[in-house]
Amino acid sequence: MKATGIIRRIDDLGRLVFPIEIRRTLGIEEGDKMEIYVTDNKIVCKKYVPAMGQATTSIVRPLDALGRTVIPMELRKMLSLPLKAAMQIFVEGDAIVLKEYEEKCVFCGSSADLMDFKNKRICAVCKEQLSKL
Ligand SMILES: [Zn+2]
Repeated sequence: MKATGIIRRIDDLGRLVFPIEIRRTLGIEEGDKMEIYVTDNKIVCKKYVPAMGQATTSIVRPLDALGRTVIPMELRKMLSLPLKAAMQIFVEGDAIVLKEYEEKCVFCGSSADLMDFKNKRICAVCKEQLSKL
C-alpha cells in the first residue's frame, strides 16, 4: 500500500474529493462509478467495471464533476467515522484506500508534537521513550 501523503476531509454531505493526481494515475474520470467497500478498517474505492462483477458488500456511487464521491453512510458507520473525518489516502494497485487519519499518538492518545512513524502517529514523548528501549 503506497502512502500518498495526502489527507482529505469528508465534507458535511459525506463526500470526499479524490485527488486529481490519483484520478489521473488510475484513469478515473467524471461520470465513472466507484465501487466502495470496507475491509480491515479501511475504505476501498475502485473504478466499477460491470463485467468483473461486484463484491456483495460493496456499494456503487458515481464520481461527480469535481472528482467527489459520497462515502456511503453505512460504511462510515461501520468504521465509526466522525463527521468531517480526515482521511489519509493510499493507492493499492487500482484502488484508492482511505484510512481515518487520527491526530493522536497511537501509544498514549496525546495530540501534541505528533510525527509519522511507519505510517502511525506518535508523539515526541513516546518517541523519546521508545528510543530508550
Ligand atoms: Zn504518545
